[in-house]
Amino acid sequence: MKNSICYWCGSKANSMEHVPPKCLFPEEKDVKEITRKTYRDNLIRVPSCEEHNLKKSNLDEYLMVHLSGRVGNNFVAYLNTVTKVSRIRLRNPRIINIEKTDVVRIRNKEFPVLWINADTSKLTYSFESIARGLYFNEYGSIFNGNCLVITKLFKHPNDPEGSKFISRSFNLIESEQKHWKTEIKGSNPEIFTYQFSKVDGFNCQTVALNFYSGTMVYVVLNGMTEEQKVKLEPYTNTITGIFFGDMD
Ligand SMILES: [Zn+2]
Repeated sequence: MKNSICYWCGSKANSMEHVPPKCLFPEEKDVKEITRKTYRDNLIRVPSCEEHNLKKSNLDEYLMVHLSGRVGNNFVAYLNTVTKVSRIRLRNPRIINIEKTDVVRIRNKEFPVLWINADTSKLTYSFESIARGLYFNEYGSIFNGNCLVITKLFKHPNDPEGSKFISRSFNLIESEQKHWKTEIKGSNPEIFTYQFSKVDGFNCQTVALNFYSGTMVYVVLNGMTEEQKVKLEPYTNTITGIFFGDMD
């Protein structure tokens, strides 16, 4: 391995990890006949230690099952759901916790959908690992800081306050993203693209992850040192107050 340190923790790497996980990209046997395309061009890989290899913990399958079935994602995600996700669920029926089954109607056609209870800590971990892996790939160094994952996937009817906060943050970043003027990258755009913002005055940077042209996840990479955090605290509090102060 060229770089032999782990993309996350810097300890000795013993495998290469796909970023995002390879299983998100459809296998040729499942799609070739239908779309006449392949979706595994130039996949990104980073060196990883035992602990930070998601494949070993089955978290990558968990992520794939949750992303593929979302209403609003594209046709390739749907193909993934009826092929690979079905196989995974046969093998491991308890991988997702189904609250209820339902049918949605779009232009007079009925589509079966599942209401899933998502394990947000598992998904948060996966998104953080993708952000850290992309950072390592982009800059050739480990990101030393905290990650904050913001996605509407985590909205829940039983937590209206939390959901409102997530929506606000998400919408705020979404409107900022229009002005980033940085490159949107990804060799298989129907499956996954990503875009880094520039680093701002608070030493923060956001990476936008777009899965199946329909599910956007933002990961804020907070690179502030402890010293900076203390120094900037009054300012960050003011800013938070301006944006989120009138939550009620
Ligand atoms: Zn590691």
